[in-house]
Order: sequence, then C-alpha cells, then structure tokens
Amino acid sequence: MSKKFIIAVDLGGTNLKLGLLNLDFKIIHKEVLRTRKFFRKESLISAIVTCVNTILEARGLKRSDILGIGLGLPGPVDEKNGIVHFFPNIPGWKEVRLKKILSKRLRLPIFLDNDANLMTLAEYKLGAARGFKNSLCITLGTGVGGGLIINGSLYRGSSNAAGEIGHVPINEEGARCNCGARGCLEAYIGNSRIIQEARRLFRRDISLEELSLLAKRHNRLALNTWSKVARRLGLALCGVVNLLNLDAIIIGGGVANAGEVLLDRVKKAINEQAMSVQAKQVKIFKAKLGNDAGLIGAAILVKLNS
Ligand SMILES: [Zn+2]
Repeated sequence: MSKKFIIAVDLGGTNLKLGLLNLDFKIIHKEVLRTRKFFRKESLISAIVTCVNTILEARGLKRSDILGIGLGLPGPVDEKNGIVHFFPNIPGWKEVRLKKILSKRLRLPIFLDNDANLMTLAEYKLGAARGFKNSLCITLGTGVGGGLIINGSLYRGSSNAAGEIGHVPINEEGARCNCGARGCLEAYIGNSRIIQEARRLFRRDISLEELSLLAKRHNRLALNTWSKVARRLGLALCGVVNLLNLDAIIIGGGVANAGEVLLDRVKKAINEQAMSVQAKQVKIFKAKLGNDAGLIGAAILVKLNS
C-alpha cells in the first residue's frame, strides 16, 4: 500500500487536537489548539485546514501519502452523509455539511463520527475492550457519553445516535438534564453534580482530583461520594447489562481516575441488582487509551472505511 499515514482530528469543547498516525495507529505528530480561540464556525474549519497543511509540510508529506482524514466530533452527526447536526457545547453549528466542505478544501477523503463512537472503536481495537465482542464504553466528564460494540462491530442504531447511556433516566421526577428531559444519569453523575455534592459534604471547595486522592487514602466522606456515584451509575448499567448481556464495560474520562474505588463499587451495584447470568458475565475495566483515544479512533475509522 502506497499510502502510509492517516490524519486524525479530535474536536472537543476545550481542545482541538490534530494528529498524524501511521497505519498501526501510532501517533507520530500531534498539534493541540484551544477550541475557544475560534469563535465562528468558519474560523474553526479554516484552523483545521491550516493545521492539516502545516502537518503535511512539517513532515515533508504529499497528499498521496495520506489515506484520509478522520474527525471525532462532540455532538450528533450523520456519519454517512458527513453532516454535523449540532454541537451542544460549541455554538454556531447547525446541519453543517462538514465532509463536503473539508473534502473540497483539503482534497483528501474525509470521514467523521461522534467522539464517543470513536473512543469506543479505539478501546475495542487497541484498548481495554479488546476481545470483548459485546461491550459498552462510557466517558465520565462534564457530560456522560457512551458507545456500544455489539457482535464485534460498532452499533450505531438507526440514526447514528445509539449509546447515549448519559440520558438513560434513573429518576422519574428527577433533576432537569441538559437534553431537556428529567432524571437522566448525566444530571446525577456529571462532574458538576459530583463536585456540588462533595462540597456540601466537605463544607468547602474540593476538586475531582482531590476527591479521587482522598478516596485512595480511605477518607470516609470521599468514599461516600464515590459510592453514591457508583450506585447511580450501577443502576443505569443494570438496565443495560440485563438488556444486552455484555462481556465488558469500559469506564473512561476524568472521573475514572478515582480508579478501583469507583470500579469495584460499580461492579458491586451490578452484582446486587442485575440478573445473575448477565451480572456474572460482565467485567468492568478502566479505559486504557486516555486522552489519545479520540485521535486513535478517528484514524481507525479512516482505515475501516478505506
Ligand atoms: Zn438527558
């Protein structure tokens, strides 16, 4: 094969990352820009185009060396037609034909998908979900995202919107969620809610990092906080485990740094509540690829489709 490299783009609410990867998905060049520097949609698109050209020039590569460009995007997208429906945390994007725009400006094959799907793909091919043909990957952060591998392939649903574990309701009359519904898991275990509850318990300001650290030192209040998070997450996961009979659940994102404290408690919640056959089958792991999962997943998407 004459094409030797893939360019991957991982757009988040905070950072815009671009990477050059080889066909074994090793990152050999990485650029990180601040997303907020680009107020308008047009300037964000131009920044991607400029950065791709910069990487090609810096590495002395021609377009013919590149298999394609993969993009991981923070919101619902139509991956077949390359359309961004909207981004919940970046204003100004509505039904944008991003694939068409970038193909024209970069003259390379363009593939895109949402970031949770790509993180899932990366963890399945190269990370903690490797070998587990029925698995769910969850990212815990400001939002709670997820993606599903069913029978060894990414399961997209009918409109590429499957896997939204963060919007599984766990309380009929619960707190209002960003999606407009009530009682979603995300409204209970999103970063801001965890911090809010920890502040109340500790009667002072506290960060997630400190909360994780204190739990590892067996601080009672910190352990209580994580137990609560694990019970809520476990409740939503019991539904998923019973429904899908999964092999593995992979937990990533900042909150996963609480580590064993969180993972053990989630497993316990599943053992207590899910049906016995399903509970016995499922294993819980921490995500392996960390911050690079988005770039790696975007590169895998290109290779799978080329
Ligand atoms: Zn919701």
